[in-house]
Amino acid sequence: MNGRVAAPGKTRTCPHCKATILESASVCPGCHHHLRFDRNASADARAQATFSALRVEGAFRNPAGADSWEYSVVVSIRNDRGEEVARKVIGVGALDPRESRTVTLSVDVFAPGAAK
Ligand SMILES: [Zn+2]
Repeated sequence: MNGRVAAPGKTRTCPHCKATILESASVCPGCHHHLRFDRNASADARAQATFSALRVEGAFRNPAGADSWEYSVVVSIRNDRGEEVARKVIGVGALDPRESRTVTLSVDVFAPGAAK
């Protein structure tokens, strides 16, 4: 592979959790299942430089009251021109009094040329 991804951005479906993931991924970022068992492919994947572009975490809590709350978690991705290229409702749910949720958003970047 010469440290390069053959088709950057090409996707496939994880056979385990059905998420849309990068074809170059050796481990599904959603369910953490290993997707390649070929030794050479795994070595190539490990050789690729990977870094975390960002990781944001926040929590919210329904204070001690009588009413349950509802929430929705939405993630959107915009390009250089500010156009939305993806938008997804990650999850919705109810929050009873004194319950809390923590949301973590992480972005991993695969930069094969940056290795070494
Ligand atoms: Zn998966």
